[in-house]
Amino acid sequence: MVLSGMSTLDQMEDNISFMKEFKHLNEKELEAVHQVADIFHQKHMIPCTACRYCVAGCPKHISIPDLFSCMNAKMVFHDWNADYYYNMVHTARNGKASECVKCGKCEKVCPQHLKIREILEDVAKEFEKPQSAAE
Ligand code: SF4
Ligand code: SF4
Repeated sequence: MVLSGMSTLDQMEDNISFMKEFKHLNEKELEAVHQVADIFHQKHMIPCTACRYCVAGCPKHISIPDLFSCMNAKMVFHDWNADYYYNMVHTARNGKASECVKCGKCEKVCPQHLKIREILEDVAKEFEKPQSAAE
């Protein structure tokens, strides 16, 4: 799956030019793709595409896709790196997940129809737990 934003004819023609020599994945490659997809599905990752349509209208200036990215990284790698980015980068000047006032503006514009308010509750539980209980 390729997701490519295009807003002019030139950009579209440029994108199309990459597909002139298009070759399908062979069986072995497809099998590898399915195996990787299964692994990602097992991790229950948040299917946010980081389009950022949700960010501009948030009254709490929550950097929603970045917080989701931290959550996904935590689910996969289980290390402190995601905590660092959550606390020191993505919420340093923006709202934390727990500051969501549940106005729902973000969900109205999310093309993936994500339940952003619910997911932010999970994010807050993961990254804003008391220090002593943190990993
Ligand atoms: S529901 Fe929460 S995250 Fe979404 S726009 Fe409102 S305050 Fe921001
Ligand atoms: S609008 Fe939805 S898919 Fe796009 S960045 Fe926000 S949460 Fe992710």
